[in-house]
Amino acid sequence: MKDQIKQDYQIAQADIEITNICNLACSYCRGSNGKQKNLSKQTVYKILENIAQWEIPATIFNGGEPGIRKADLIDFAKFASSLGLRPGMYSNGTLIDKEFAKRISEIENYRAVISIHSLNPKKDLDKTYAGIKYLNSFGVIPEIFLLMTSKNVNNLERLIGDISENDLSKVSLLQFAPVGVGYNYKKFVLSTQNRILIHQKVKSLEGNVPFELNCAVDLTEKEALDKLRNIEPPKKVTLHINSDGMIVPFYAGAEDTVLGKAYDSAEFTEILSNPLTYEFFENAMCAFVKRSFGSVEQGTSKITKKEIEMRKLE
Ligand code: SF4
Repeated sequence: MKDQIKQDYQIAQADIEITNICNLACSYCRGSNGKQKNLSKQTVYKILENIAQWEIPATIFNGGEPGIRKADLIDFAKFASSLGLRPGMYSNGTLIDKEFAKRISEIENYRAVISIHSLNPKKDLDKTYAGIKYLNSFGVIPEIFLLMTSKNVNNLERLIGDISENDLSKVSLLQFAPVGVGYNYKKFVLSTQNRILIHQKVKSLEGNVPFELNCAVDLTEKEALDKLRNIEPPKKVTLHINSDGMIVPFYAGAEDTVLGKAYDSAEFTEILSNPLTYEFFENAMCAFVKRSFGSVEQGTSKITKKEIEMRKLE
């Protein structure tokens, strides 16, 4: 069954939320409403062993802000490497100092992804830029996720100009998803006009920046939904593990759709061996996007966790 599943679905990456605590407090963030949690080191090690057993090639440590656990983050990355996994992190970059950058540079093939939350006051952005410079000084070339919201559309050229001073492998423009868990999210949603403007600006920047520029902002809400409907197999899946150590279809707003314990080897295997899990991920993601974009259709996940339990394979 494992081999058949692996043929049909490619789990390219596992993301582990080692903490939901962050040093920043973006008002739109899903973390801004929740109880603070850290995954214990032993739990993370068990999860990594399960990931390696399933031969998922890459592991990203994220949060919250994973950099609040700098020492642990290095230990996790080293352990992941020793298991043959490619480690990495999604970080806001503000806590990266010289020592941490040096230690990251010592981990082979480490994937450093820095998110720029450009709504933050200049002091936070300056800390992010300093973090990127530390990484560069030790030869680490990060990728950038630039979160696009209604509030920073007009600053896109300036932001790109600022980050262009560094060595970067790729800059991806992501769209803000109004998942409804941050306390102040509504005013950041991209309008269609915003989306068109972003695409125009990206077009004018193409070929004029020293890195790959990728625009993952959909031009219209309908386009986002259509993309999800038309996903063809083999399906690429990212496995999400939340700060309770649970497998979820995605982080935000998925508290009601927890599938099981990622740190329990038997449960991990059982969940990943069940084809319905993947169908569930797809349906849940589709429902999530429908909910996020607001209205094209009233979507709900077609397959529930209960149903998966009832239809478990023999
Ligand atoms: S930096 Fe990221 S994790 Fe931290 S508060 Fe902002 S959006 Fe949330």
